[in-house]
Amino acid sequence: MSEDLDLVQLLACPSCGERMVEEADGVARCSIEGTRYVRETGIWRLLAPPEDPLLTGFLAYYQAVRREEGWGDDGDGYYRDLPFEDRSGRHPAIWRIRAATYRVFLRTVMEPIEAAHGKRKILDLGAGNCWLSYRLAGRGHEVAAVDLNDDLRDGLGASVHYGAETQFALIQASFDHLPWPADVIDLAIYNGSFHYSIDYRATLREALRVLRPRGRIVILDSPFYRRSSSGLAMVREREQAFRADHGLDAGSMTNEGFLTYTRLNALGHHLGITWKVIHPYRGIRSALRPLKNRISGHREQARFPIVTGSATSGGASR
Ligand SMILES: [Zn+2]
Repeated sequence: MSEDLDLVQLLACPSCGERMVEEADGVARCSIEGTRYVRETGIWRLLAPPEDPLLTGFLAYYQAVRREEGWGDDGDGYYRDLPFEDRSGRHPAIWRIRAATYRVFLRTVMEPIEAAHGKRKILDLGAGNCWLSYRLAGRGHEVAAVDLNDDLRDGLGASVHYGAETQFALIQASFDHLPWPADVIDLAIYNGSFHYSIDYRATLREALRVLRPRGRIVILDSPFYRRSSSGLAMVREREQAFRADHGLDAGSMTNEGFLTYTRLNALGHHLGITWKVIHPYRGIRSALRPLKNRISGHREQARFPIVTGSATSGGASR
C-alpha cells in the first residue's frame, strides 16, 4: 500500500533518527546503527527497540480491553461510514462525539489550512482503525496512519477495509520515537489518543521535532478536566472496573490518562507551544450524556475540546 508516498520515502530510523537504506522491497536498514526494519502485512514495523516489553505489554492489555468492548465490525461499510455512523450499533454515543469533533475540526482547522496551503503532510497519531486517515487522504492530503496497535478489526490491520483507491501509509511506531527526520511534517494529529502518552513532555517534544517550523499539533477527543483530582479519580475508577470485569491489569505501563487546562498551559510554556482551545459541543450536551456518565461518574464531567498548538515564534525552548 502506498509505497511511493513521500511520507514512506522519508522514513527515518526510529531509534536514532538517521536515514534508512532500502535493502530490498520491504526491508530498510538504519544507515548508522545497522538495525533492520521490515514491512509486514503492509505495515512498516518501526518500533524502537523492536521488542520493548513495556510497549508489547501495554499493547496486549489494550487489545484485550478493546476486544472485550466489542470494537470493530466485519463489513467494509462500518469503517467507511465512520465517524458519522456506527453500523455495529455498539458505541453510538462515542461515535456521536467523534463525528461532532470531526465536523468542527474540518471547519475550524482543516478548511482554513486547505484554502491557504492545499495538500499537507499529515500524521494521524493513534490512528486505530484508520478512519481519520481515510477521510483526510480522501481530501487529497498525504497521510501516515501511526499506531502501536496492528489489530485487524481495531488497529492498522483494519485499513484493508478502505480499498486501494485511497492511499495512506501504515506505520507501527510509538509517539515518542516517530520515524521521520526533523522538519518534514505539516500536521501532527492525536486522534483520540494523546492521553495514551506515557509522558506528555516527551511526546510533544517529538512532535515538535518532526514538524516544520509553521506546522501544527492537533489534539482531538482526549478528556480534559479543570481539576486534576477529577481526572485521577476517573483513571482509577476505570482501571478498577477493567480489573473487576475482565481480570486485566495495565501492568507497569502508566498512561497520562487525561489533561487539565493548567497542565496544557504548563506544557506550552515549557516547550514553547502556543495553544488554541475550541469547545465544539455546547449545543448537544444531552446527546452526550450517556458517555459522560460512563466515563466521568458523578464528578466533574470530562470535556473534549479541539486543541491546536504551534511553536511560539522566537520563544521555543525545546
Ligand atoms: Zn538508527
